[in-house]
Parts: sequence; structure tokens; C-alpha cells
Amino acid sequence: MSSSTSSRGSWSSTAGSRRSPIPYRKKPLDYEPAVLCHCGMKAALWISWSNDNPGRRYLKCYRARVSNTTEGGCGFITWYEGPCNPFVASLLVDLRDAVWGLKDVNTALRLQLDDVTMRLEQEKNDAIALKELQRMEKEEEQLKLRDGRTNKAGGDRCLIIAVCVALCATWIWMALH
Ligand SMILES: [Zn+2]
Repeated sequence: MSSSTSSRGSWSSTAGSRRSPIPYRKKPLDYEPAVLCHCGMKAALWISWSNDNPGRRYLKCYRARVSNTTEGGCGFITWYEGPCNPFVASLLVDLRDAVWGLKDVNTALRLQLDDVTMRLEQEKNDAIALKELQRMEKEEEQLKLRDGRTNKAGGDRCLIIAVCVALCATWIWMALH
């Protein structure tokens, strides 16, 4: 631990409240010896990702991060270590930007994928509905066809009966005369 709040440079990234490009290996309170803030609580150890101090750790009142937008706590903030080598700092800034860029691309691709997946699902449902409709139409056609055949068979039966009746009537008439 070396620097104080008077050290030059910013704590947070210029890009606002963007998250750390890499996950923390240790939780903010997993360090020793403990440094207490003005509240008397163990201060949280964070990593700066600013352009001036990338990768440099600092201590801040744990209550400071009440939410993403509001700041709270006692205002305690101090560097945990001295500034890093300028070459390493520029390298870290480049790596940070590369990671953020890739994360942005990844997010955009995920959104596109979600969109395509949703459209595919819709098209699949439409195809199923269309197939069902075609099946029902085919069934209806077959029913109509069967109905037509039944009517024709009924017609033939009537014709045969009529011919029989006529023949019987002729035979009776001839028998009587
Ligand atoms: Zn505090």
C-alpha cells in the first residue's frame, strides 16, 4: 500500500460504469491486512480500469457502491499500490478495449441469434399449421369423393328396383290379359 487519494489519475474508466473486462480472481474483501474506512468497516479492494491507471488496485468504502447509479458510504478512497509501468499500462488499455469490443460484438451477435431463433420458431409453427390445414383439406376431399360414390351406388340401386317393378308389372299385366 503506498499512494494516497492525492495520487494523480482517475479511478474509474472513462467509459463510465462499464464492468471490469475480466472477472476478479478474489472478492473485494479477500485481502489482508484489513484497511478500515471512516465507517470502521473493511474497505473494498477494487481494480481501476481507467486510461490512466489500468490494472491498478484501490481501496474504497464498501458502502460506496449502493447501486450502479448512486454513490454512498463515507467517501473513503485510496490507491492500494503505486502506478504501473507506462508501457504495461498502455498494453492493459489496449487489452481492455479489445475485450470490451469483443463483448459488444458478442452481445450484438447474441441479440441477432435470439432474433433468428425466434423467427425460425415462428416459421416452424407456421409450417406445422399449414401441414395440418393441407391434411384437413385432403381429408375433406376424400370424404366428398366417398359421398359422391355412395350417392351413385344409391342411384344405381333405385334404377334396378324401378326396372324390377316395371318388369313385374309387365309380367302381371301379361298374365292378366
Ligand atoms: Zn465507509
